Amino acid sequence: MKLTVLGNNGPYPKAGGACSGYLLEDSKTKVLIDCGNGVLSRLFKVCDIEDLDAIVLSHLHSDHMSDILVLKYAIGINKAKGKFSKSIPLYIPFEDNELIERLNYNDAFKIIPIEEGDKIIINDLVLQFKEMIHPVKTFGVKVEKDNKVFVYSSDTSYHEGLIEFANEADFLLCECGVLEKDMEENSNHLSAKQAGEVATKANIKRLVLTHFWPKYRLDRIMNEAMETYDSLLELSEEMKTYYI
Ligand SMILES: [Zn+2]
Ligand SMILES: [Zn+2]
Repeated sequence: MKLTVLGNNGPYPKAGGACSGYLLEDSKTKVLIDCGNGVLSRLFKVCDIEDLDAIVLSHLHSDHMSDILVLKYAIGINKAKGKFSKSIPLYIPFEDNELIERLNYNDAFKIIPIEEGDKIIINDLVLQFKEMIHPVKTFGVKVEKDNKVFVYSSDTSYHEGLIEFANEADFLLCECGVLEKDMEENSNHLSAKQAGEVATKANIKRLVLTHFWPKYRLDRIMNEAMETYDSLLELSEEMKTYYI
């Protein structure tokens, strides 16, 4: 599998940046995981939307889904013109009916609810979901192929369930929305130190951090995560591809 980071800021982008969006592929399959602001224009650099087999939205916070409201035009208008034939399967947490209603546009998407414990098979990829701790319904995503395991934390507070879900994964893409100095009781995000702790407890082989507050210095994030995790550790880079 390979993963291209289309955007890694949250909950708003730095100048020229984009929020959460990750393209996961193998030779036969392309799955877009999250579609935050700025992600669609990045996606067009590496992929035609016709080639997407599925889209997964981990949760419906705007920094993870706002470009889906624009993608529906790219698909829906081209469908109306006869230039695009399929509806793209869109897996989302069912929570906000009004928002889900707004996603309907010329059958751009085939909307499918995510439930914890679901196992979805897309060609050779097997996807599973685990509910995280966040103010809205949010799912971590696990993708397996040929004994390789990729896990994406999505957004979450510290969660033993994430450690269990990600156990022994080859690659954990983990959010770290805050630094320890800014942690509050209701931060709703992992600190970089906690992300390292999760990865250590889950015995993760390679930890790649994401969901960076746009004003943070990246070396501070790195230093904090190094306190708790001493295996392969990287900060995600926009438009970089990682092999799993
Ligand atoms: Zn977020
Ligand atoms: Zn969120």
